[in-house]
Amino acid sequence: MPLKPTNAEAEYFAREEAIKLRKLAQKSCREMNAEEQEKLKKLHYLHCPKCGMEMNTIQINAVEIDKCFACGGLYFDDGELEKVAGRASSFFQVMEEVLGK
Ligand SMILES: [Zn+2]
Repeated sequence: MPLKPTNAEAEYFAREEAIKLRKLAQKSCREMNAEEQEKLKKLHYLHCPKCGMEMNTIQINAVEIDKCFACGGLYFDDGELEKVAGRASSFFQVMEEVLGK
């Protein structure tokens, strides 16, 4: 009978994978020249990462958040989720570890 990973094991590997993906993205960003970065920013700025429609900026708890009214998605800039939700216990500790604060 195949062994099923425990939740702790699955979470560990998911974290390791996220950390690896973060490092790859940071490396890719460092290697991209400024002209390419500006071109990508112009192309994608305030467009929904899920459906591609234009997003709108709304204010919640004095924090401006990008909202896609086409698909309902929300986009939080770095640190905005913590400001809106408050600093919950383990959730943000895990997020900081994975996302690298
Ligand atoms: Zn959308």
